[in-house]
Amino acid sequence: MPIGRVAVVGGSITGCAFALAAARGGAEVTVYERTTGELADRGVGIALHVDRYVELQAAGYIDDSTPWRNVVARKWLVDDGSSARGRLLWDQSAAFRMYNWGQLWQGLRRRVPAEVDYRGGTPVTLGADGEVVLPDGTREHYDVVVGADGYGSAVRTALFPAAVPQYAGYTMWRGSCAWEHEPLDDLISVCIPNGQGVMYRIPDGAGDRMSWGLYSAVGGTDNPRPALLALARKHFPPFWADLVTATPESETLIQPINDLVVDAYTSGRALVAGDAAAIARPHVASGAVKGIQDAVAFETACRAVGRDGSWDDVLARYQAERRPAGADLVRVARAMGYAMVEDTPDWTVMTPERMVDWWAAQHADDGFGGHALGASIGTGESVNR
Ligand SMILES: Cc1cc2nc3c(=O)[nH]c(=O)nc-3n(C[C@H](O)[C@H](O)[C@H](O)COP(=O)(O)OP(=O)(O)OC[C@H]3O[C@@H](n4cnc5c(N)ncnc54)[C@H](O)[C@@H]3O)c2cc1C
Repeated sequence: MPIGRVAVVGGSITGCAFALAAARGGAEVTVYERTTGELADRGVGIALHVDRYVELQAAGYIDDSTPWRNVVARKWLVDDGSSARGRLLWDQSAAFRMYNWGQLWQGLRRRVPAEVDYRGGTPVTLGADGEVVLPDGTREHYDVVVGADGYGSAVRTALFPAAVPQYAGYTMWRGSCAWEHEPLDDLISVCIPNGQGVMYRIPDGAGDRMSWGLYSAVGGTDNPRPALLALARKHFPPFWADLVTATPESETLIQPINDLVVDAYTSGRALVAGDAAAIARPHVASGAVKGIQDAVAFETACRAVGRDGSWDDVLARYQAERRPAGADLVRVARAMGYAMVEDTPDWTVMTPERMVDWWAAQHADDGFGGHALGASIGTGESVNR
């Protein structure tokens, strides 16, 4: 890695992974995170495909000390009144590790070396000259600025003002509640008209929680709570509906679903990463994977360039690998969203054979759970079709 100072804007999953990547290369690293401690409390679930986990473990970004719950199958269910848990449409094999978001973040945060200056409670912006602008107006110069500041990224806005997240036309409620039943190792997909419920077990202290999400175009923007309860009661099998309706409002959040692709991942000496760089609909289950992979690619580029190389070379290598990967993930996620929410089939007539064809038509296996690290992706241009 060239010698220098690196600023990371955002200290969430992508930000911590970049701080680790840059510190390993010997850079002097400062992380600016606007929040003060709330990140550890995010109690929703986050999925890591087992194959992606193996790659990230080998790269030294995660290990078994962070608790997870196993998923070995995805059970697609529909409510036809025949049983409390619904009728099984398809038992699809799946291989995921399911994490508690806060615990996954804490594991990454612990890996950030003590010499990294992690400044919580510090919202910053990127000045026109590429300097980091602190809340008191102080300007700090760095050799590289990493925009790991999420879907509303201030760094991305400064670099690429025309790149604005595009609302997909539907929302997702998320929540989690105590799970006191069997040690379920299924990813549950509840199929509803123009929507989808997703549920899986995550660790939580000594017990388990059921992390759930409900995608729907109905009622997300106004009166969200009554709309959520009505949707669950009307379309979910009663057992799963009870979990959603029993989750207190204080533990439920609503998230608009967006797509975003940027034309470039770098500009001058700044780069964007994670959700700041590409927003893929959550159907593709790879938000955390993508952010950590961006950091691994940055570290790989730094090592390839070496101490006598230039930061410009590092940034060019980073962009060449990660922009196509991000754009392709957005493309796959959009196709999945179309099939699972925007144009759903009549679930009641689906059979396992039809479900296989329906899944194949989404090309979901091309990206579900994230691409392999370093996979050859092409240009990703077809995303803007
Ligand atoms: C509300 C919400 C719920 C989610 N739930 C899930 C889920 O259940 N499952 C799942 O798989 N994925 C979920 N995701 C997505 C997932 O968290 C991300 O894909 C993944 O964590 C990688 O994100 P990131 O680190 O790039 O960005 P984020 O996790 O969004 O982090 C960005 C960080 O930057 C900080 N920041 C923003 N602006 C500034 C600034 N100007 N200065 C300093 N700091 C700044 C923010 O405080 C935040 O900590 C969720 C995202 C959101 C926004």
